[in-house]
Amino acid sequence: MEQKLLLLSCCAPCSVGVIHRLKQAGVQFTVLFYNPNIRPFEEYQKRCQENKRICLEENIPFVELEYNTTLWNQECGHLMNEPERGKRCQICFYLRLKRTAEYAKQNGFTHFTSVLGISRFKDFNQVCSVAQEISQLYQIPYDMTNWRKNGGLELAEKLGKEKQLYRQSYCGCKPRSI
Ligand code: SF4
Repeated sequence: MEQKLLLLSCCAPCSVGVIHRLKQAGVQFTVLFYNPNIRPFEEYQKRCQENKRICLEENIPFVELEYNTTLWNQECGHLMNEPERGKRCQICFYLRLKRTAEYAKQNGFTHFTSVLGISRFKDFNQVCSVAQEISQLYQIPYDMTNWRKNGGLELAEKLGKEKQLYRQSYCGCKPRSI
């Protein structure tokens, strides 16, 4: 069976290196943008457009799903005092990876992965344990490659500069200083 990977991306700076590496490796893949966690809406649009731009440049399919803030608020809104890497992030990962697995199953993908754990501010193991749970739930394999490793962060930084990517200063739901 032909392998087809679905890559959940949160923004261009986090995904640019991964897109480059997958393309170089000849992997058939699509980038999925499902991020109802990003506030405000203008910021969401900016990140989505930038992610779309790099996919167009690399000739990689890009899919944007619904901006379902009601669902995100219901599940995570009461946890705004939690620190980054805490319970709010755990549920936020769960929501986004679940929707990704669901989309993958419905659209003929053989496996899925994400760049949610690539940033130094994120707990890679937290992302992987949530992803494994979803993988079992939907019976679709999750590729647990640590995209930070083997020069992944350096590559992302280099490509980000070359492509003059817009780079935000916070993850998505609130600025880090708050
Ligand atoms: S900090 Fe990022 S991963 Fe954590 S809840 Fe907010 S948007 Fe989601």
